[in-house]
Amino acid sequence: MKFNKVLENIKTYEAGKPIELVVREFGIAPEEVVKLASNENPIGTSPAVKQTIIENADRAHLYPDDSMFELKAVLSEKYDVHDDNIIIGAGSDQVLEFISRSLLNENESVLMSAVTFAMYEIYAKQMGAKIYKTASYEHKYNEFMEAYKMYRPKIIYICTPNNPTGDATSKAEVMKIIGSIDKETLIVVDGAYMEYAAAKDKKYAITPKDILGYENVIYLGTFSKAYGLGGMRVGYGIAQAGLIHELYKMRPPFNISTLSLAAAIAASKDDVFVEESIALHQEQIKRYELFAKENGLVYIESYTNFITYLFDEKMDSSKMADALLRRGVIIRDLASYGMNAIRITIGTAKQNDTFFRHFSEVIS
Ligand SMILES: *Cc1c(COP(=O)(O)O)cnc(C)c1O
Repeated sequence: MKFNKVLENIKTYEAGKPIELVVREFGIAPEEVVKLASNENPIGTSPAVKQTIIENADRAHLYPDDSMFELKAVLSEKYDVHDDNIIIGAGSDQVLEFISRSLLNENESVLMSAVTFAMYEIYAKQMGAKIYKTASYEHKYNEFMEAYKMYRPKIIYICTPNNPTGDATSKAEVMKIIGSIDKETLIVVDGAYMEYAAAKDKKYAITPKDILGYENVIYLGTFSKAYGLGGMRVGYGIAQAGLIHELYKMRPPFNISTLSLAAAIAASKDDVFVEESIALHQEQIKRYELFAKENGLVYIESYTNFITYLFDEKMDSSKMADALLRRGVIIRDLASYGMNAIRITIGTAKQNDTFFRHFSEVIS
């Protein structure tokens, strides 16, 4: 059977390894496995959200409210936007897919930084579009402008803070890029980790409202990271109503589940949980910075819930990831992104203890 030609150069997305795999392959007890690979919230899901999920269990046979009225109401109040500025996706991933499908084809191209979220490329390739990347993993104004003028891409992705590197682009810099691009190009501002950046340094805080004045910009947010709902798959896009109206044409009905919808509504009302998550994170990430300094390791200053350690030629990130995996510690090897580096999600104090114990042994 012949598949679409575009599939020939698509590499399947490599998700963080599940705990079950380590249990199966290395015979380690599940409670001893530490998963710091997918930037999930280490303290889990808020108690209020868990309660909501239980209370909604007997509604599992019902389709969700397809208008997602209540979730949009909470989001529109939180961000001071109108409900027709919002589209909900099964993760912000699905919104990325709607964007790609509504704008791209074999004659179009997309532009992104050298090392950034892998799905931008995969969704663009599914549509047969060309991929251009700047030279740096940071989002540098001059590099973006040079490539923009040369290729006139249909979409420019700005991932801030950036995954898998952890660096962020200041609001001033992002607004400068936005202000220099004409309206035939869509700019996607992916704020999956914005809660962490905003808490660390206001200069990096971008809100949907900041970009709403531009008809060719969309802001993406997710419940998967700071809100602790990775397993429920809920994200959103916020933009001018005309753009949202077009994206809606790509949306399947009931695209998030009844339980996910209820969970997201409860989560968006529980600011205390997010504050606690960020406070724990800020305290624990210091240990990773200190460990790096004490052991002569280089790291990228992080504005996210993970940290990226850069290795020199004496250390190999794939071997390191494998050695840790055999010890029941799952982290992310960045070799497939062309970097000799590992990305570690900041865990709970106990998870981080386990990481440092094994990591110290492996490096010595
Ligand atoms: C996690 C992540 C997303 C979206 O995740 P969903 O779970 O699909 O909402 C989007 N962009 C980046 C950069 C991410 O790291």
